[in-house]
Order: sequence, then structure tokens, then C-alpha cells
Amino acid sequence: MKRAVYPGSFDPVTYGHLDIIERAAQMFDELIVAVLNNQGKTPLFSVDERVKMLREATKDIPNVKIDSFNGLLIDYAAKENLHIAVRGLRAITDFEYELQIAQTNRKFSEEQLDTIFLTTSLEYAYLSSSTVKEIAYFGGNISECVPDFVADLIYDKYKNKQ
Ligand code: ADP
Repeated sequence: MKRAVYPGSFDPVTYGHLDIIERAAQMFDELIVAVLNNQGKTPLFSVDERVKMLREATKDIPNVKIDSFNGLLIDYAAKENLHIAVRGLRAITDFEYELQIAQTNRKFSEEQLDTIFLTTSLEYAYLSSSTVKEIAYFGGNISECVPDFVADLIYDKYKNKQ
């Protein structure tokens, strides 16, 4: 069975992520979307909230599973017996950062974890979780960026924070 992991912060999931998930799910028998509990960032949503949002947003894709992990991706991948990571590339600015992570993961996993890149669909090339949060914070319209239920959850967060 061909399996892959799509790791990320997903704070929150956007149509850009969902596009990568749909396309990667067609390439593998099973795609595990793994939410990173990144201690270095202060997220808007807890890991549990992000996992729930991803489950809801991908409920119609049977071979997608949602999980979360702490620490290094290579350790999570080894534990789960996963050897391919999927990442999305939006622009050349993503490339340098992603290349470095991919090479580090390959080296430190002793060549047990390789990374494949999917280029973003052009309509989502501009989209990032942080832009979406910034627009929502100022009450802007994010209906083209995230599913409606995610948009409601983002607006709710900011309402509670004010
Ligand atoms: P991270 O903080 O690990 O970069 P993100 O949740 O921001 O996590 O992104 C996870 C992955 O999804 C990364 O590979 C990123 O490049 C990709 N990604 C994010 N937004 C888009 C988009 N609009 N189109 C394609 N890929 C995207």
C-alpha cells in the first residue's frame, strides 16, 4: 500500500491546503495529513481544533486520515512507517525553505523519508493561513480562501479576543 504524509501547521486549513490534499489523495492509497504541534509558533487554533477542522473539510475523501504530532517529522514518520512527505509549493520564495527542510529530513532520517512537491493550483497561489487570518481579523471577506465553516470559526476566535 502506498502511503504518504502531508505535514503542516494548518492554522487554519485553506483551499490551498485542500487542493494539495485532494490531488495527493489521488496519488496514494492513503494520505495522512499530520498537524504539527509547533512550540515555536503561537497558533490561533489548538491542535485539536485544527484536527477537527481538517476532518470536517476532508470527510468526503475516504483515503485521507488526519493525525497530529509533536517534535520532528522524521521521528513521527519512522513511528508510523511513512517514507514519503508531501509539501506544496506556491512560489519561488517557498522553494528555498522547503528544499532545506526536505534535504535535512532526508539526511537525518538516513534516507528513509523523501519529500515530493506539488505546485499549487494557480488560483490559490496567493493564499496562506496567515493572510487569511489577517483579512479576517479586520473583518474582510475570506469566503474564497476557506470553507464557510472554517471562516465562521476564525471570525468567532477574533470576536472572543476583542
Ligand atoms: P507550515 O507552517 O509547515 O509551512 P502550512 O500549514 O503553512 O504549514 O503549510 C503546509 C504546507 O502546505 C506547506 O507545504 C505549504 O507550502 C503548503 N501550502 C500552504 N498554502 C498553500 C497554497 N495556497 N497552495 C499550495 N500549497 C500550500
